[in-house]
Amino acid sequence: KGTPNWVSWHLSSARVGDAPRPSYFNTDVTLPSGWYRVSTSDYTNTGFDRGHLCPASDRDFTDAEIKNTFIMTNVMPQAPYNNQQPWRLLEEYCRTLADAGDEMYIIAGPYGLGGSGSNGGVTTTIANGNVTVPSYTWKVILVLPNGDNDVARVNVNTRVIAVWVPNTHTGLTTDWSQYRTSVDYIESQTGYDFFSNVPKAIQAVIEAKTDTGPSH
Ligand code: MN
Ligand code: MN
Repeated sequence: KGTPNWVSWHLSSARVGDAPRPSYFNTDVTLPSGWYRVSTSDYTNTGFDRGHLCPASDRDFTDAEIKNTFIMTNVMPQAPYNNQQPWRLLEEYCRTLADAGDEMYIIAGPYGLGGSGSNGGVTTTIANGNVTVPSYTWKVILVLPNGDNDVARVNVNTRVIAVWVPNTHTGLTTDWSQYRTSVDYIESQTGYDFFSNVPKAIQAVIEAKTDTGPSH
């Protein structure tokens, strides 16, 4: 599809610093030969942002780490409003939680075929068909207070946030909390089993809930 299926990372205040944001994106030259290697120019004038999966600001502790988030295999075609408003505000909320002493396990990805960017209409692919434009962007976040032995600390009361956001430039709200859903819903759509190292009885509870906690 010319995008990652998903990207997963751990966030805590240890991963947040002030390394400068790179001014360019890099092609992933580690992809197997024969795979299409997406370049930054593939997104130019498409009406879609080069949307980070793992945000640059979640990895700005060192120059090397933040540069890794600017490799095109960490990027999906994201409608500008989706990227710059609700998606960005959820990213910032996660860093607020990190600043307050929480650590998070985050998985994000694209879903489906066809988004609506700033050029209007519905776009199914860019880059001459080499990059699929998703119809939704999703993210699941498991929140724990900073500590050790994380899997063992997950219980039925552990906060889990899941969002399913239409990949559109119009018709959205800035309020990311309006796009909350259950992890079970995203599992049913994507076929993935999130948090599979957590005992099934606990997964069953935390994945069925839709988060109602604070959003800023
Ligand atoms: Mn973004
Ligand atoms: Mn699961």
